[in-house]
Amino acid sequence: MILVFLGPPGSGKGTQAKILSKEMGLSHISTGDLLREAVKNNTPLGQKAREYMERGELVPDDIIISLIEEVMPKEGGFILDGFPRTIPQAIALEDMLKRNGKELSKVILFEISEDVVVDRISGRLTCSQCGALYHIKYNPPKEDLICDLCGGKLIQREDDKEEVIRRRFKVYQEQTQPLIAFYRERNKLFSLDATQSVEEISKKIIEAIKNGS
Ligand code: AMP
Repeated sequence: MILVFLGPPGSGKGTQAKILSKEMGLSHISTGDLLREAVKNNTPLGQKAREYMERGELVPDDIIISLIEEVMPKEGGFILDGFPRTIPQAIALEDMLKRNGKELSKVILFEISEDVVVDRISGRLTCSQCGALYHIKYNPPKEDLICDLCGGKLIQREDDKEEVIRRRFKVYQEQTQPLIAFYRERNKLFSLDATQSVEEISKKIIEAIKNGS
């Protein structure tokens, strides 16, 4: 099972990828998480990626494609969360899978409007230690600014500020939305309304995978 979760920032694809990878025994590959880790550790990859990320722009394709080549599991299924985000990345993924005798199972599209995204992300809190996600209004931690799971400090990501979110949404529309037609043509696309509850969305994704719809 090889899945791609596609959608704008704040559409809930990271949350679903975390839940469903556990539930379905799949690896979870989030390019955003990998890049943030690299920035935190100031690795050569982090140094190259940092400025793009802070501006809310995409990191260049060649950097992302080599990263994916490095981390893609040789065995077992996986969920790609936040990759591909451009047509060249999608073509590189297709080639990579073909070389390994594999094929994409399905692309899940998380549909949501810009205003809902701004409301969601500008209240989002991320655990600085384990990456767990919270929301000030919709999913608050039990204790203020403390992670329920690991006790780590909750922070607002630099790129979760409203102005940056609006830029990231525009980048999504310009560079990532063309992937919808790309995957529709290949009969891989399953779209869902990403304003539903976390539980409802997990259920719909599992059903779609089971039914092969
Ligand atoms: P995310 O957490 O997936 O929203 O990613 C955070 C940031 O990392 C994005 O705004 C981009 O700057 C960068 N990034 C993550 N995945 C990709 C990708 N597939 N292509 C280019 N840049 C990416």
